[in-house]
Amino acid sequence: MTVLYGLMIGSLLNVCIVRMPLEIGIVWPPSRCNKCEKRIPWYYNIPIFSWLFLRGKCLYCKTPISIRYLIVEILTAILLVPILFVETHWVAVPFMVYMVSGLVISTFVDLEHWIIPDKVTLPGIVIGLLSGFFIPERQILNQIFGLILGGGSFLLIGYVYLKWKNLEGIGGGDIKFLAMGGAFLGTQKILLTIVLSSLIGMVIGLIAMQLSGKGSKTAIPFGPALSVGLYMSYVWGEKIIEWYLDLPRGSYGMIFP
Ligand SMILES: [Zn+2]
Repeated sequence: MTVLYGLMIGSLLNVCIVRMPLEIGIVWPPSRCNKCEKRIPWYYNIPIFSWLFLRGKCLYCKTPISIRYLIVEILTAILLVPILFVETHWVAVPFMVYMVSGLVISTFVDLEHWIIPDKVTLPGIVIGLLSGFFIPERQILNQIFGLILGGGSFLLIGYVYLKWKNLEGIGGGDIKFLAMGGAFLGTQKILLTIVLSSLIGMVIGLIAMQLSGKGSKTAIPFGPALSVGLYMSYVWGEKIIEWYLDLPRGSYGMIFP
């Protein structure tokens, strides 16, 4: 049942991914083929099955439909399930469904258009803070500081980068994304998110440099790394932080108390 809901949400996210960067409404107009613009009847709008049944082609004009639709539906269903294990209170579920959905949209929109939509992050900041009021085990102050820390640290890095190298290394979308993450998860986990995303981004960057042959001038969208970092931090954050604090303290304990 949960998986079914996940697939349906994934289907909705597909619409968001296509329409948000184009500034088209999500609910209206109804789904249509991107090419021949014929309306897609509701019975061909069923997650996974429609795509498989139509063999990835439009019913009318046979234009291939991107396999991304299928990937987003399945990925969303998989990513939403752990919410039920992480959260101890049902009130948290709708809030966290919003956050995880936001990660999926940000990843795919950033990959294609190099932006993280404000329509995801700005409401996300508000919804994240609201979750602090509604979810019993959260602390609103921690989440406010998380917002400031997440957005602020990237704002600072972006500013330094701009002054130092005259390059715009970090986009406004990334800053707002981390502000949203902090508003949802609080200070500790947003710090962990920054560490994890930087590592992931570095690995992806190195691979991209090799593949493109353009060396250090290779640019990659940072949204996917941020999304993976934030998700890992949400689901495994406590375990990772515990593991880090339990590490035997050798000589480096002096540097990292
Ligand atoms: Zn068509």
